[in-house]
Amino acid sequence: MTNPSELVQTLRNTFNSGKTKPVEFRLKQLKALQRLYEENTEAMIEVLGKDLRKSKQESILLEIDYLINDLRHTIANLRSWVEPEQPPKGFVNMLDSLYIYNDPYGVVLVIGSWNYPIQLTLLPVAGAIAAGNCVVIKPSEVSSASSKFMAETIPKYLDSDCYRVFEGGVAETTALLKEKFDYIFYTGSSQVGKIIHTAASQHLTPVTLELGGKSPVYLDKSADIKVATKRLLWGKCINAGQTCVAPDYLICTRDVRDRFVDCAKETIREFFGSDPKQSPDLCRIINDRQFQRLVALIKQHKPAVGGNFDASDRYVEPTILTDVDLKDPVMKDEIFGPILPVVTVDDASEAIKLINAREKPLVFYIFSNNKKDVKLLIDNTSSGGVLVNDTIMHMATDMPFGGVGTSGMGSYHGKYTFDTFSHKKSCLYKDLGILGETLASSRYPPYSDRKLKFLQLLLKKRQGVSFKCLSYLVVFGIGFASAVGCKHLLETKNFLK
Ligand code: NAD
Repeated sequence: MTNPSELVQTLRNTFNSGKTKPVEFRLKQLKALQRLYEENTEAMIEVLGKDLRKSKQESILLEIDYLINDLRHTIANLRSWVEPEQPPKGFVNMLDSLYIYNDPYGVVLVIGSWNYPIQLTLLPVAGAIAAGNCVVIKPSEVSSASSKFMAETIPKYLDSDCYRVFEGGVAETTALLKEKFDYIFYTGSSQVGKIIHTAASQHLTPVTLELGGKSPVYLDKSADIKVATKRLLWGKCINAGQTCVAPDYLICTRDVRDRFVDCAKETIREFFGSDPKQSPDLCRIINDRQFQRLVALIKQHKPAVGGNFDASDRYVEPTILTDVDLKDPVMKDEIFGPILPVVTVDDASEAIKLINAREKPLVFYIFSNNKKDVKLLIDNTSSGGVLVNDTIMHMATDMPFGGVGTSGMGSYHGKYTFDTFSHKKSCLYKDLGILGETLASSRYPPYSDRKLKFLQLLLKKRQGVSFKCLSYLVVFGIGFASAVGCKHLLETKNFLK
């Protein structure tokens, strides 16, 4: 095993040398990463096939192209993102310059998950590079083919003084976490998220935790049930349900449930044929442990749809369970497989109570054309995000993506990834000129009511004061300062006489 202390020290030396800071250097590395994806597309499809029997379409759309498109966006915008922001100024700072610099943190650790093993590892890495950091990249050992691919390929494209892949399982990650990083970005389960958070807190290292949980779907009779079923089952079946934003369970009324089950039978046949096991488009479960966990969940029920499995190639059929009690194991932990339990309620208010009685989900899916109920559901629940009338497609936007509560902390995607890996360093530039000094001199002792009043006027936050109005105030300030200055001058002259 690479010595974690030596590894982190090497990267720290590089960071301290300033090598990763120039924008040109960052762009060069990001373009090399893009070339890595473009020149190794076939190899990536192959390793994703080995790990998860991922289809070409899912490999390209949800991993490779996803990474390339994110890089294109970052490369096109990086120069403007790194520019210091100039925030609006208050009256008290009219003569000053205000800047917010985007400082790289330093040496950051990115820990990836096995379900989208390349995308979930390298998307944050691109943001960390863009922000000017050195990066230790820790792929999931569970998706071993993808981990090996990244360990072998990345050094051929990225500068090894700055970016290193560190392979390994629990023991190696535990050793790595003893080191002091400047930022840790973790994707995986909430359970391990707590371990990461605890380790990071020993060094007061800031973290982003991209976790999981049970993401509910609410479907009501105002929706087109057929279209909703297709969209829901597509989101449930991609990667065989091993997706952090997969719809976990469905909430609906009894009559909607029966219509949904009919549509689901038809949809699954349409997607995967009469025997889904033969379909090349359905992934397999990552390992035996996960397979056995899913089979145990199915065995406790009489599936309304599906229910078959085959241990020889870790196949689990898309399965819908309707005989579900809220206390059943399938309603306890995140399912992370192609099994969809359905629970019934009387209305949207009951759905809200059910959701709020559980941990905050990563995403809440709502299928409805009833605007009043949609608003009610959004306003009265808390989740990482909400998607109305579809599943998964919010991942195709550049809006911040992340959880809340046990589904995670922090967010990323698009510019938010760059922001995640940048410390916002506020910098106030003042000058030592006579005007500024005269205006500010009221802060010095000896204190007086006159000085206090003037300072309060200067510091008062003014809601909705237009820039035009501020310019009058500046003129007033300058006039006032000149008057004070002249008075002071005359007094000094008289004193000297
Ligand atoms: P995993 O087993 O691959 O673990 C993730 C990472 O944590 C790996 O790199 C692994 O080496 C490391 N790890 C595991 N145990 C550890 C320990 N004891 N100490 C230190 N490091 C350890 O993945 P998983 O946890 O099975 O992932 C599935 C979960 O991840 C699901 O809950 C899913 O919802 C969540 N997830 C979330 C997102 C998101 O973006 N929010 C994305 C994908 C997966």
